[in-house]
Order: sequence, then C-alpha cells, then structure tokens
Amino acid sequence: MERVLVTGAAGFIGSHLVERLLREGREVVGVDCFADHYARGLKEANLRRARERYGEGSTSRSGGRLRFVEGDLLKMDLGGLLRGVAAVAHLAGEGGVRESFGERRPLYVERNALATRALLEAALRAGGVASFVFASSSSVYGGTVGGRPAREDDAVRPLSPYGATKLAAEEYVRAYAAEAGAATILRYFTVYGPRQRPGMALASFIEKAARGAPVEVHGDGTQTREMTYVSDAVAATAAALDRRGPRGGVAATYNVGGGGRATVLDLVGLVQSALGRAIEVRYGPRAPGEVGCTRADLSRAARELGYEPKVPIEAGVRAQAAYHLAIDRQAAAV
Ligand code: NAD
Repeated sequence: MERVLVTGAAGFIGSHLVERLLREGREVVGVDCFADHYARGLKEANLRRARERYGEGSTSRSGGRLRFVEGDLLKMDLGGLLRGVAAVAHLAGEGGVRESFGERRPLYVERNALATRALLEAALRAGGVASFVFASSSSVYGGTVGGRPAREDDAVRPLSPYGATKLAAEEYVRAYAAEAGAATILRYFTVYGPRQRPGMALASFIEKAARGAPVEVHGDGTQTREMTYVSDAVAATAAALDRRGPRGGVAATYNVGGGGRATVLDLVGLVQSALGRAIEVRYGPRAPGEVGCTRADLSRAARELGYEPKVPIEAGVRAQAAYHLAIDRQAAAV
C-alpha cells in the first residue's frame, strides 16, 4: 500500500483528508507543528479520532495506518519524513487574508512560501515522490472579473500578503514539476464545515450566535463567496493524489469550489435558521485585501479529476452548526 504524507494533518482540511485516506486503507504519515494561529487543543481534537482508530498502538485491524509526527517543516529532517512516501498532500500553511496584513505577516512568507520550497526540494532529493499536491487558494486571483467564474489560466493578481505567498509557493511547485513526477496545484475556494479554522467568518458567526453574542460583518455584507464543503475539497485532493505523470512535466492547476455562492449576509441568515435563533449583526469597516466576489469555473476539475461538488450550502452550514453545538470548542481551545 502506497504511503502518503499529509502536511498540516492536524488542521481543518488536513485532518479530514487524513481520515478519508485511512478509511480507504492507505498508509498515512501526518505532520503538523501545531502553529499558534489557533489553539493547539482544537488541533489535537481534530486528529483524535484518526489517532485512536488508526494510530500506532491502535488495536483496529481494518483500514489504513497512521503515523503522526509533530514538527515544523522548516526545522525538521524532511528526508526522514519522506522516506518511502509515494504521494504528498501539502496542506500545511498559514491561512487568513485579513491577518496577513498584521504582525503575523512574516510568518506567511515562512509557512507558505519557504516551507513549500523546502518540502519540494526534499521531495526531489528523496526521489520516490510520484505525486505532489499543493493546497493553494482562490486568493491568488484577487477576485473575479465582472462576476465571471475564475478560470485556471486567468491572470493572477493577489490582493493580500496571504495570496502573494500562496502564489510564490505555486511558482515553486511549477519549477519542481519541470524536474519531478506529477505536481498538482489545487486552488481551494472558501472551505467550510466541521473543524473550520476559528478565524473564518462562518465559524466565528456560529460560535458567537450560539452564545447569543452579536456577529461582526466587515463592510456591508454583500461580499460573495464560492463556498466549498470540506468533504468536497477532500475528494478533489484525494483524486489529485492519484494523478501520475512522466518526470519533467507541467504542474496541473485546478479550481476546487463548491458550485454555489453566498453573500456574507446569506451566511448569517443560514446560521440563523440552523440555530433557530435571531442574530444581531454589527457592521465594521471593510477588511483589507477582501475581494468583492469569488466564483470558480469547475469545468477543468470536472473533466480531468472527475470532481463534482456534492454538498449544497444549506446542508453544509447545518452540518457545521451541529458540530459546533456538539463539541465545546471553547473548552478544547485551551
Ligand atoms: P489550518 O490552519 O487549519 O491547517 C494548517 C495546518 O498547518 C495547521 O494545523 C498548522 O499547525 C500547520 N502548519 C503550518 N505551518 C506549518 C509548518 N511549517 N510545519 C508543519 N505544520 C505547519 O488551515 P486549513 O483551513 O485546514 O487550510 C489548509 C491549507 O489549505 C492551507 O495551506 C490553506 O492556506 C489552504 N487553503 C484553505 C482554505 C480554507 O478556506 N480553509 C482556502 C484556500 C486555501
């Protein structure tokens, strides 16, 4: 059974991907440094089920196997990490458009651009990596032109340090592809669902509304987002891991969207109906770097990865709200 390395394994999307690969019976090495952009307790909780069921010392005999390594990609022995690895899903990174303008700005360069470069160079040296998948972002586009869905070969104009560091990392992946096996760039559009990063709009709306606190909307709330439920993003990532190609190819780039869009105020309304309570909205200034509209053309991903988003926004928001109500995120966030 092929060994897959998942970086950012304790994060929101990474932990869901790890579970999917283990259910498929794959051998997974997961790595995460528990970066302090949100609480370690939440990330430990993200991985708990996978570690109990498939981790070292687990008595379960079905499904795959998980080895989890705590470490920072910029400080650890990457050669050791990549030993025997045939496919890499590189999801480790520092997310958040708004936060990338603040004091954490240098961390975006380190964790998005430099860590990706280090991992790619180690993968080249290791020699056995037949498929490298990089989690990029719709932020590289800098918004849609006239509301038209973004296509992968559209011009890229990031409007934030976050988007710029993701684009830098994409360039490293493109250069790697010229020497290595298959390389895939996935541009995720706003991913949501259980375990969503606490700083993201929907997670913070649900958490505040569940406590009866007002929610803060930046700008007038008419910003529109292509929303991607996490199991759909994970399905696209798993499909990309299976891509193979001759050495010395060209990196393939795919949009990964959910097929549906919502304004920020639509999201507030959906949370209101999921929780069955009225929500007070407070309006603040527009956030820096925030684009008016994101929208994905998914035809290339459909054609080449067989990707088809399955979860409509209403059902996805209900599932995320149910998760927030079922686990005490505040208690885990210590
Ligand atoms: P997340 O913050 O929950 O997960 C990322 C994980 O990477 C964290 O657990 C963090 O501790 C780890 N990490 C960061 N730097 C590391 C390093 N140097 N070494 C080891 N581990 C490190 O974020 P997420 O929402 O799950 O996003 C996963 C990836 O997808 C990120 O690269 C993000 O930029 C990208 N992405 C996410 C979205 C979204 O809507 N969530 C959209 C576009 C792109």
